Amino acid sequence: MQTSITERQARHPDAQIAEDILRTCVHCGFCNATCPTYQLRGVEMEGPRGRIYLIKALLEDQISHSDSVVDHLDNCLSCLACETTCPSGVRYSHLIDSARSRIEEQHERSFSGRMQRKLLAKLLPNPKLFRTALRLGQMAKPFAFLMPSMQREMLARIPYRIPRPSRLDRPGVREAEGERRARVSLLTGCAQKVMGPAINDATLRLLARLGCEVVLPAGLGCCGALVYHMGNHEDSLPAMKQNIDRWHAEMENGGLDHIVINTSGCGVVVKDYGHIFRNDPAYAEKAARVSSITRDVSEVVSQLGLGSRAAASTSGMRVAYHDACSLQHGQKVRAEPRALLKVAGFEVLEIPDGHLCCGSAGTYNLLKPGTAGELGRMKAEAVASVEPQVVAMGNIGCMEQIAAYLPIPVVHTVQLLDWATGGPKPRGIP
Ligand code: SF4
Ligand code: SF4
Repeated sequence: MQTSITERQARHPDAQIAEDILRTCVHCGFCNATCPTYQLRGVEMEGPRGRIYLIKALLEDQISHSDSVVDHLDNCLSCLACETTCPSGVRYSHLIDSARSRIEEQHERSFSGRMQRKLLAKLLPNPKLFRTALRLGQMAKPFAFLMPSMQREMLARIPYRIPRPSRLDRPGVREAEGERRARVSLLTGCAQKVMGPAINDATLRLLARLGCEVVLPAGLGCCGALVYHMGNHEDSLPAMKQNIDRWHAEMENGGLDHIVINTSGCGVVVKDYGHIFRNDPAYAEKAARVSSITRDVSEVVSQLGLGSRAAASTSGMRVAYHDACSLQHGQKVRAEPRALLKVAGFEVLEIPDGHLCCGSAGTYNLLKPGTAGELGRMKAEAVASVEPQVVAMGNIGCMEQIAAYLPIPVVHTVQLLDWATGGPKPRGIP
């Protein structure tokens, strides 16, 4: 694709990257076939090729950041199905991230839109604030009918039962059981700590059982993804830098074999820290080192192997495995979770149209509840069609989204692996 980026747009730090990516696109449109929003709407500007044209026209100042242009780009889930499909290797993820950053700089959103984004950016990465907000939201639930649709949707997402915080995922060192085979650090996360503390508990038990010493450095926090993907790149950097500093210090002192991530939406961004900080002389090298040892929990457990630990009690349970987009498209991890579940004695069922996003997509289901709801219902129907006893996946966002539409237990893959190797049965499984 030929480009002629204007001098004004070329001043943006991501302009060169965006131009390089645009030039790799050959307009073939193969990507439209797997794009959820194109499948729903059938409109060119609601597919990746159309969005790429829009981003090009914005960079060339042929069009402005009008409400309708911004809406087409906001409607993108960042699911990256297009990246998996593209035969030319277009890095759509970096292109849409840079476009989002320019939107926040050059487009004036409505007052309510700005407030909603600010609120999400403030609350979700901070477990204490998020927990308090959920409690207040629980009290406001009976009055939801008085509120605008967006706020109603946010309240509907608040569970009636908020789990107690984990007692295992506090800063410190968790010893390996038996001989130490690896020294790793676990990102305990932010929103997941509040919505699904059982996931970190299961991960810590499983890693220790497989011979990992797990380091939880004080000061680790949100990976920055939630704010970064909303386009507020500058605001997301302090949290990323804090994590990089903590992990780098640990790498220098005790040494780390892996940084383990059990929320695939976070994994994509931590694996991308090296790219995000490529032009920062103080952080480029440290960030690249952090990214180079970051793995999804399923990758680490696969490497360690479950061995002969799998219990007979789980034998034959029918598990529908849902590929989170951030795991299958963002990190290209598909085989490991399936293989582990099979070794652990589960029957793994394939969900039809598994490449399609469930509509969760970080904050998307709160910002775009209509489209997210359509995709959530479609995903729930696809899952139900294979008649599973339980649904497993590697991302808390997908878990919350799918559970909202499906009356079947929804768990994280590590919860099943932990159960199969001696841990407690995950809540909700009969
Ligand atoms: S498949 Fe790739 S090359 Fe073809 S239009 Fe989509 S992004 Fe461009
Ligand atoms: S990231 Fe997903 S929603 Fe966005 S253009 Fe690509 S396939 Fe479509």
